[in-house]
Amino acid sequence: MKTIMLSPQNDKNAVNTAASLIKQGEVVGMPTETVYGLAANALNGEAVAKIFRAKGRPQDNPLIVHIADFDRIYELCPAVPPQAKALAKAFWPGPLTMIVPKGDCIPQEVSCGLDTVGIRLPAHPLARDLIRAAGVPLAAPSANTSGRPSTTTAEHVLRDMDGKIAAILDGGPCGVGVESTVITLALDKPRLLRPGGITLEQLRAVLGEVEVDRALYEKIGDEVRVSAPGMKYRHYAPKAPVTVVRGDPQRTAEYIQKQINGPTGVLCFDEYRSYFPTCVVECFGSQFDLAAQAREVFDRLRAFDDTDVTRIWAQCPSDEGLGLAVANRIKKAAGFSVVEV
Ligand code: AMP
Ligand code: MG
Repeated sequence: MKTIMLSPQNDKNAVNTAASLIKQGEVVGMPTETVYGLAANALNGEAVAKIFRAKGRPQDNPLIVHIADFDRIYELCPAVPPQAKALAKAFWPGPLTMIVPKGDCIPQEVSCGLDTVGIRLPAHPLARDLIRAAGVPLAAPSANTSGRPSTTTAEHVLRDMDGKIAAILDGGPCGVGVESTVITLALDKPRLLRPGGITLEQLRAVLGEVEVDRALYEKIGDEVRVSAPGMKYRHYAPKAPVTVVRGDPQRTAEYIQKQINGPTGVLCFDEYRSYFPTCVVECFGSQFDLAAQAREVFDRLRAFDDTDVTRIWAQCPSDEGLGLAVANRIKKAAGFSVVEV
C-alpha cells in the first residue's frame, strides 16, 4: 500500500480525501493537539482491526474513540455519568479521555472485551474537521509502532507507518506532545489511569477526590489485570536501554556524569547540556518549563535511535502538574528503571 501525505496547506481537499478513505474502511494518520493518532471508523470492526495490524498493538489494549461534538457521546454511552458532563464542560475540547460504560454500537475490536469505552473530544481543528467530514466517531490510538515513542509530527508517523496505512493528514507538530489524560468514571470513585495534558490537580478541582492508579508508579506484571490494559506494556522506549535518575537536577546531572562509560546518550534539561561533552545529548526543555518538556520528550527519545549509543541516562521532572505526565513517560521509556539520588 502506498501511504499518501495529505497537506491541508497546499490542498484544500485534504480533509475530504482523508474522510473518504475513512468511510471506505481505511486507516488515516490524524493530527491532534496531544500526539498523532491512527484513525478509523470506530463503528466498523474490520476497519478498527487494521489499526491493530498497522501498529502491531496487543489485542487486549482498547482504543480511544474521538468525537467532535459533545452530544455524540449519547450514541456511544447509554448512561453518561454526571461527572462526565462536569469534566467535559471544564476540559473539552482538550487532552482528556473519559472511560465510561459502553453502548452496543461499540465493536469488540474497540473495547477488547471490556464493558467500557474511552471517549475524547480533541481540540485540534483538523481532527474535528476530519471527524465531522467522516460523519462517524473515530477510534484512534497513538500513531507509533507499538512499544516505540508516540509520534508528534507527520514525518514520524510516516517513518513508522509507511506502506501500512492509506494516508497521513499533515497538521504540523503537535502542541501538547504527550497523550491525553485518561480518567475512568466506571469505578466507585474517579481514578486517574494515565497522566497527560490535563493535570491531576485540575481534575481534583472539578471532581474533588480522584484516586491514582498504581500503574502510574510501578511496573505491572503480565499476569496482573489493570484498569487500563495499555499501562502494563513497555512503552515509549528507544532502542538503547534507559535509566532515569530522579532528584534535584544539579545532583542528578553530577550522578549521571559519574556513570558515563562507552557510547552514552543523555536526556537532560537545557541547563545541563554542557555537563556531558563526550555523550550524545538530547535536551528536552528548561527544568522550569514543563510544557516544553512535554512537547519535546518523545521527539528527543526518538532521536537516540539515529545514533550508536548503547546506554541512555535521563533526568526527569518531579510529579507536580504536567510533571506527572512527563515523568510517567520517561519512567515507562526506562521500563521503570529508576535511581533516586
Ligand atoms: P493510546 O491509544 O496509545 O493513546 O492508548 C490508550 C490508552 O487508554 C491505553 O493505555 C488504553 O489501555 C487506555 N484505554 C482505552 N480504552 C480503555 C477502556 N475502555 N478502559 C480502560 N482503559 C482504556
Ligand atoms: Mg500509545
